[in-house]
Amino acid sequence: MAEAAFDLTPPTEEQLEELKEDLNEDERRVLLEHGTEAPFCGVFLDEKRPGVFTCRLCGLPLFHGGTKFESGTGWPSFTTPFAADHLDTIRDMSYGMVRTEIVCARCGAHQGHVFPDGPPPTGERYCINSVSLDFTPEGEPLPDKLGRGAPEGEAWSG
Ligand SMILES: [Zn+2]
Repeated sequence: MAEAAFDLTPPTEEQLEELKEDLNEDERRVLLEHGTEAPFCGVFLDEKRPGVFTCRLCGLPLFHGGTKFESGTGWPSFTTPFAADHLDTIRDMSYGMVRTEIVCARCGAHQGHVFPDGPPPTGERYCINSVSLDFTPEGEPLPDKLGRGAPEGEAWSG
């Protein structure tokens, strides 16, 4: 698969305000107020189609549908980001634990945490809040919330 060049320039203040208006209260709390969510993976338990999971706030692809695995905790998790530079990590010392918080590299929206107890090949387990993501099934156009153009707004086949 060719490396698609997604435009990682952060949204402008105005764009961010517009995007935030589209969020409900739960989404605001998780996406914008980092760390208020207890450790929990709630992501799309029944979503098994191939496709792309995108940032709920700005639409950047963050995970492939195919990298979701059954972690044994009852909650599906991801092992590999869509692209390494689409996620940023932050050391999170809340809840008396040292964890690695992950945020969208483009808009900074809180996504969840990454734990070092996943399966091969990465050994990483990305535990994402379901409200932090949208899902685009394979063959349907990706969101283009910031008006960036292709590959956003185009059908994606991974
Ligand atoms: Zn984002």
